[in-house]
Amino acid sequence: MTGLYIHVPFCAAICNYCNFNRGLFDPNLKRRYVDAVVREIRAHRDTPVPNSQPIPNPQSPIPSPADTIYFGGGTPSLLEPGEVRRIVGACEEAFDVARDREVTLEANPESIDAARLAAYRDAGVNRLSIGVQSFRNAELRRLSRLHDADRAAAAYQDARAAGFDNVSLDLMMWLPQQSVGEWLESIDAAIALAPDHLSLYLLEVYPNAPLKDDMARAKWSQAPDDDAATMYVAAMERLEDAGLLQYEISNAARRGRRSRHNLKYWTDGEWLGFGCGAHSTRDGVRWKNISSTTEYIETVARGASPAVDARCLTSDERLGDALFTGLRLVDGIDANAIQTRYGVDLWRRFGADLERFLDAGLLQRDGARLWLTRRGMLLAHEVMSVFV
Ligand code: SF4
Repeated sequence: MTGLYIHVPFCAAICNYCNFNRGLFDPNLKRRYVDAVVREIRAHRDTPVPNSQPIPNPQSPIPSPADTIYFGGGTPSLLEPGEVRRIVGACEEAFDVARDREVTLEANPESIDAARLAAYRDAGVNRLSIGVQSFRNAELRRLSRLHDADRAAAAYQDARAAGFDNVSLDLMMWLPQQSVGEWLESIDAAIALAPDHLSLYLLEVYPNAPLKDDMARAKWSQAPDDDAATMYVAAMERLEDAGLLQYEISNAARRGRRSRHNLKYWTDGEWLGFGCGAHSTRDGVRWKNISSTTEYIETVARGASPAVDARCLTSDERLGDALFTGLRLVDGIDANAIQTRYGVDLWRRFGADLERFLDAGLLQRDGARLWLTRRGMLLAHEVMSVFV
């Protein structure tokens, strides 16, 4: 089944480390943007795949089945609940959306309260992903985040009070000046709240991020690489002890609470992205939308497709993607499934290269299954370079 991604490119302030496709919140621009997204989703009924390239499958009059809707950003919780409802409604008109759908909204702690969250639930949202990043105020300030630790915890409690039974928290590790012990304080604070799902991201300081200058000015540094590895492994172990089982390099969940939407990215699935800069992959065709918010709005308003760079993936690219993303999962990849889907014998094609990672304890193999060990996950890029 297809997953539907809705990009919301607005933020109340721009964080000093961010390199996502986003801009400052402007209520008028947001209203026009929501109109454009609704129009783009509706237009999808008529043109399921951008027609600038050969389309492998003919258009079907039957709406495609979809079972997940994911509002990502930016800060989707800057949308009014009524706007979320309109977009969910447009998805229901254009797709055959499963009754047991997963509808996720990413939310920043400072932009939500109990009443707003209850209204999101009424609008059809049933999963919340809260961008906590840290439970230590000094770290949040260094990241120029707008919330503090108390607001993050209160946002979580508000979500529970509003009836959300599927709540994920995002945390960031390897922050400037953060020690292993301080990182684990945030992990313990998250565990104490008992979320259903946790995503742990390693901070990447981009060359032109304002954070880089902030760090130079204040003489902040990141802990040594070995400490970053300890942070990762110790966090995953603590989460496991608390019943949050790692299922992907950066994600852990209680049983039955893995992100159904994100699993599509890691299991060779299909998804359609709506909104500026959103990516789509379907029927072996990949495309993305115009990145600029205003250009996107203007393009959709004149009835044109915002899709650019549509192209059919080669069989080698599809295979490479399947191996790359599959290895991100704790369950790893199944060589038999790869053989069936792509007609490639994994061991014959990559065996010699994979052997040294098996010997080094970064990969493990059991019959047809191949997966990264936790240590291997720390060096995933190195292992995955075999498939490039
Ligand atoms: S809230 Fe998220 S998307 Fe917005 S600026 Fe901060 S990091 Fe970037």
